[in-house]
Parts: sequence; structure tokens; C-alpha cells
Amino acid sequence: MDGRALAARVRAEVAEDVRELGEIVLATVLVGDDPASARYIGLKHKAAEEAGIRPLDHRLPANTPEEEIVGLVAELSAQGDVDGVLPQLPLPPHVDETTVIGAVDPVKDVDGFHPVNAGQLYLGRPTLVPATPLGIMALLEEYDVPIAGVEAVVVGRSDIVGKPVAHLLLQANATVTVCHSRTRDLSAHTLRADVLVAAAGSAGLVRADIVKPGAAVIDVGQNETDAGLVGDVEAEAAQRAGAITPVPGGVGPMTIAMLLRNTVRAARYRRGQLAFPLGRGLT
Ligand code: NAD
Repeated sequence: MDGRALAARVRAEVAEDVRELGEIVLATVLVGDDPASARYIGLKHKAAEEAGIRPLDHRLPANTPEEEIVGLVAELSAQGDVDGVLPQLPLPPHVDETTVIGAVDPVKDVDGFHPVNAGQLYLGRPTLVPATPLGIMALLEEYDVPIAGVEAVVVGRSDIVGKPVAHLLLQANATVTVCHSRTRDLSAHTLRADVLVAAAGSAGLVRADIVKPGAAVIDVGQNETDAGLVGDVEAEAAQRAGAITPVPGGVGPMTIAMLLRNTVRAARYRRGQLAFPLGRGLT
């Protein structure tokens, strides 16, 4: 399953939406100098610009007090010409991420991490949904992978990948199992999976012999090893799977594309073209 090709199409669609909607602004807040975070922000800005979205770049030193970060996020959320607000995670250890995420207006929460948006997803009325799970669902749809009634197994239960993708699969009528670090017998679950999502962050955790023959396998993992960037799924699994995403070139490019799509969605909320279920200005 080619994430690069699909992501390019999504980004072209976003660019068309932006031409129709007029100026769209995505504000990002980067705290500290973590090189990986700086790289991610750079990629997001570049992709935004290519789609015609204007990035608004805020950078704060690593020792910025939490109140100051919360203040900036709240200020951007209140700003009339800002469509999306994205505090880049992880934040430095002295900062409570929940508090910062809580300061984002849910209507502008393009990451979909605010409790209001997480709650809407849980209730089966998705609003702004985290980008990686959206990208996973888009890939499954693009490749006509049946979801309704099938066994879907998600390895990983994080708030940004595992839990939200499990909810999306459930809404698409899969029978969903969520595995995690305390799961007793991982292979007993994965061997049943018609759709297998690996999001544990552990290189080679999903060996080829624990993949059900013919399964659709989504490898979310991004693990830096001596051999370069690898996923959570052993390379040999490609021989057993019916369809599989490569690393790199699978889920990664989809995440950025879906972030841009979320930004367009937020712009439609702000312009009143789409109704946000709980109304605006909740924070
Ligand atoms: P996380 O560390 O927050 O969560 C990992 C989850 O995996 C946990 O729920 C844990 O219980 C589970 N887990 C760990 N070891 C396990 C094991 N041996 N057996 C079963 N479950 C196990 O990670 P995350 O933020 O969800 O990210 C997961 C991976 O996906 C990472 O490699 C990350 O880099 C990658 N990722 C990629 C993208 C992308 O765009 N491609 C986006 C987000 C995350």
C-alpha cells in the first residue's frame, strides 16, 4: 500500500480546497530544541506551504514556564485569523501536555488530541481526528480492504495512534482487539487478524510467522536502527500479507497529508461551512 502516492493525491485535493477557501493559517508552537521535533515541524510547514496554507511559526525556549506556553496556545486559539493550532509534542518534562492541549480551542485542534475531539470520536461522531489513524483508514479504503465484520487487531494503545485507530475500525464495523505491552500472547491475536495495525514502536516485534496469511498489514512503527529506519513488522511479512505498507513510504506520508486535510476541516468550521457539534469557542 503506497502511502506516498495516496498522500500526493490528498495534498493535491487540499491545495484545491485552499484555493476555494482563501487564506488558511496553521499556527504551530515548538518548545525547546529537540531535533526530531524541529524536523517534524519543518516537514509540516513545508507541506502546508506547498498546499497554499500559511504556517505561523512560534518557537519558545525549552525552559519556558508552562503558563507562558498555555497563554500562547490560548491566544492563538482566540485569534480571529488562525484556523489551526498545533503544539508540537512531546513538550519538555516540566510541562503538562494535557494542560497545553486543553488550551487549544477544540474547533482549531488539527491534531485531534483535545478531550472534546477524543470524546466525539469515542461517541462515534468524529470531528477532528488524529492524523495517523485517519491516514491508516484512508490507505485501507484506497486499497479496498474490507473492514465490516473482519477481525482487526491493533498492537499499541497510545492516545495518538492505537486508541483512535481502534475506534475508527470499530465504527467501520470491524471486530477490534487492542493489544499492548501487557498482552499475554500477542501471536494468538495477530494470527487471527484480517487487518493488523502495528503501532508499538518496536522493530521487528511483528514477525512474519505471526501474521495471518493474506492479511492487510499496516506498519506504523518508525524505528531508527543501524540498518536505517524500519517499522514494527519484519520485512519477510510482505510474503505472507495480502497487502502491506512499507516503511518508509507508507503511513508516514499519510500523517502529514491528513494533518493538512484536518486544517482545511478546521477552516470550514471557522467559516461556518461545517457545524462543530458542540458549537464554537469552548475554551
Ligand atoms: P507509544 O510509545 O506511545 O505507544 C506504544 C504502544 O505499544 C503502547 O501502548 C505499548 O503498550 C505498546 N507496546 C509496546 N511494546 C509492546 C509489545 N512488545 N507488545 C505489544 N504492545 C507493545 O507509541 P506511539 O506514539 O503510539 O507510536 C508507535 C510507533 O508508531 C512509534 O514507532 C512511532 O514512531 C510510530 N509513529 C509513526 C507515525 C507515522 O506517521 N508514521 C505517527 C505516530 C507514531
